[in-house]
Amino acid sequence: MAVRNWLSIRSWLRDSVHGWITAAVTESSTNGKGEQLISVESENGSSQIAVTHKNTDERLPLRSLSLEQDMADDLTQLHILNEPNLLNTIRTRFEHKLIYTYSGIVLVALNPYADTAIYSNHHIHQYAKSTPPSDPHIYSVARAAHDGICNAKRNQTIIVSGESGAGKTVSARHIMRYFAVAGKSNDHTGITSTEERILATNPVMEAFGNAKTLRNSNSSRFGRYLQIYFDDKSSIVGAHIRIFLLERSRLVYQPQNERNTHIFYQLCAGIRTDYSLKRELKLGTADEYNYLNQGKCSRLSGVDDASNFVTTRRAMTSLGIDNNIQKQIFKLLAALLHLGNIEISQTSSARQDASVSTTDSSLLRAAELLGVSATAFQKGLMQKTIGVGRIRAESEKIVTSLNKDQAIIARDSLARLIYTRLFDWLVIKLNATLLSTETGASDRARQFVGVLDIYGFEHFQKNSFEQFCINYANEKLQQEFNNHTFKLSQEEYDREGLKVAYINYPDNQPCIEMIESRVGLLALLDEQCRLPAGTDTGLRSKMDEMLRPPYKKALFSGSKSNSLGAGAFTVAHYAHDVTYDVDGFLEKNRDVVPEEHKNLLNESQNPFVKEVCTADLTPTSPPSIVSTPTQPIRTPSMSVRSPPSRMSLNNRTSVDELSSAFNKGHIRSPSALSPSWPPASPGSPSSIGAPTLRKQPTLGGTFKMSLNNLMTTINDTDTHYIRCIKPASQENASWSFDNQKVLSQLRASGVLETIRISRAGYPSKMTFDKFVEKYEILISQRPEKLNNSKTTSQKILEGTITNKSLYAIGKTKVFLRVGVLAHLDKLRSIL
Ligand code: ATP
Ligand code: MG
Repeated sequence: MAVRNWLSIRSWLRDSVHGWITAAVTESSTNGKGEQLISVESENGSSQIAVTHKNTDERLPLRSLSLEQDMADDLTQLHILNEPNLLNTIRTRFEHKLIYTYSGIVLVALNPYADTAIYSNHHIHQYAKSTPPSDPHIYSVARAAHDGICNAKRNQTIIVSGESGAGKTVSARHIMRYFAVAGKSNDHTGITSTEERILATNPVMEAFGNAKTLRNSNSSRFGRYLQIYFDDKSSIVGAHIRIFLLERSRLVYQPQNERNTHIFYQLCAGIRTDYSLKRELKLGTADEYNYLNQGKCSRLSGVDDASNFVTTRRAMTSLGIDNNIQKQIFKLLAALLHLGNIEISQTSSARQDASVSTTDSSLLRAAELLGVSATAFQKGLMQKTIGVGRIRAESEKIVTSLNKDQAIIARDSLARLIYTRLFDWLVIKLNATLLSTETGASDRARQFVGVLDIYGFEHFQKNSFEQFCINYANEKLQQEFNNHTFKLSQEEYDREGLKVAYINYPDNQPCIEMIESRVGLLALLDEQCRLPAGTDTGLRSKMDEMLRPPYKKALFSGSKSNSLGAGAFTVAHYAHDVTYDVDGFLEKNRDVVPEEHKNLLNESQNPFVKEVCTADLTPTSPPSIVSTPTQPIRTPSMSVRSPPSRMSLNNRTSVDELSSAFNKGHIRSPSALSPSWPPASPGSPSSIGAPTLRKQPTLGGTFKMSLNNLMTTINDTDTHYIRCIKPASQENASWSFDNQKVLSQLRASGVLETIRISRAGYPSKMTFDKFVEKYEILISQRPEKLNNSKTTSQKILEGTITNKSLYAIGKTKVFLRVGVLAHLDKLRSIL
């Protein structure tokens, strides 16, 4: 073991509270076994560290401290590249109010939870001009994506990730504004410009899809992939939205200090002075409704729901949703609030049957607004039909009464269904306006920039099917990132015949296979859902039985829980081990709509309710766009089909657990029960194709498909990454930085790993021709006198760089280590 001289070096010492603290090495000696003993002094006092064979490198709690480059723009440029120096750089920059830092191809974005004067139109124009500032900024990422459209004619994706409250949605908004301001189109034909319409989707989508949670007062409860389309002059012609994983359970249940989606509170507050609408909707204040008051924060200080309602309505109007349609939407929302207030009781202590008074005002209001008779409505909520035997003829159906708990579950599931469909319908409407086929905008679309704002990795104390899906999505994104940064560069080195030591990058392919292969977790889940006697416990034993090495032990471990539940299993995800509670997996994956609900909505006399709840909601495809001949672009119409939006993302509701009991026996496909149902909806695999094991759609199968479609789209684009970090330990604390919080997010987002890789390899590369074109000026001998561009490139490098290990010559490209390109540019600039 090499003994290192730590003496007189100021170092970083690992600290359980602050992550790393500075320390002075006061003594260094070796013992008889050749082990090094280092004494250090820090703010915590003195301590001694033994450098044994087990305690070297990564495990050593001591790191060299770099005194320079505290403010480096790019972490990959740090001379001493280790975790505490990276953290120190990010922190120092943050203390100087610099929230952005490059980390190779990734932009690290820290949320200051405070206004910063860096997003003005002036800033946008600075980054859009021919010589933009080199400082890290979200606009420089947007600019790079725009350059990709203009120069390479390639589709682009900007992937924004990070945990809840880290700033993904705000970042996505800034990106959208960049394109809107920097690339103003000449579209003066409409009332509002294309760019304004794209920006107007934000207040609308956020009103219907965002909510106050404990972690973020404007938390997105769905994932979004927004594609902004450009014509052959690189001007914006329109956009298209794809949505993922709308949280459904929030509609009927909100934990303490959390709220339902904003639109409900906006509606209640906004119509207070609109007496005629108020009368028509028969709405009171938000705290009167069960679906709005459970979190006990129907009013929030600093939030003006009424004025936000005006903003939402204005945005809807500019997106072609006129007053009349808005009124229909509000009626539907009001119906849901009345539905949640229907008093369901027990017939008598002797009889368990649920009962609702025919004069219940909430029942009457909900029925009227939904266009169904109060009696049919009451019946639809109080009864269930059970199929008997395997053949489902009418005669084999038995109608039974629900008990009180079951009826409440039925009521809530109807409400969730209606809201989900309204959300899907809204997205379709917005898409129709954002990229109109009538105006020819879609024909003019050539390339797109996609902006992905999706849930970050989740790891709570109790994790359920929802976390499983979210983390699966994050595994896929991480894999895309791995492929992009690690695998591709390694493969390219091989192709180019370079001898670069293999970099041991964290490949998560085995984990993805364990989830989505033919015998993986999702397939086992679907199989269990298909069995008439399938249970959550059955799923857990099946997992234990089927998931054999290499998955078992390394990636998956089953464990029985001590509680009465069905048990739990642990998956070793790339970011963290997560233990999932199996309870509710089957129920959530089945996603069955009871027959009574289908019938009820089919019978509605309200054309709007019928359109939203029963029409085919297959989303429109974005345009088929022309690709560059050299690098074919997969057209979105080939890969883009409906994302799932029909899922519950809240595991904290006991309602979901109860619904498991209710739905026993409802395992058949709704389409099998009634061929006209369900109407294809976004997320409904009936519009996409069959999921894994059988024709019946399951949520997991649908989600897998839509994720794979998304990945197909993304893989055919050039990708840019923004990793949002929430540095504050306290919610909303301005300019606050908690080392441990930042470190764990840097780890989970793969930033630390990427830096290691970038430094180890050749972060810059250029084809010989390009290199010669740019740097031939640095040599006296003119290129035409040399044989070819490879020889010329070699000559240029030999003449300018003395250290041969700083570059490599491949078969078609030159490869440069960190800092070389900057050196060459400097030489060029002084000539
Ligand atoms: P979720 O996953 O819950 O949707 P998110 O990552 O989308 O979270 P945002 O809603 O974008 O988080 O940000 C949370 C809050 O942080 C914002 O409402 C805003 O107050 C603040 N914030 C985010 N980014 C910035 C920024 N660049 N400058 C100032 N404040 C910001
Ligand atoms: Mg968000």
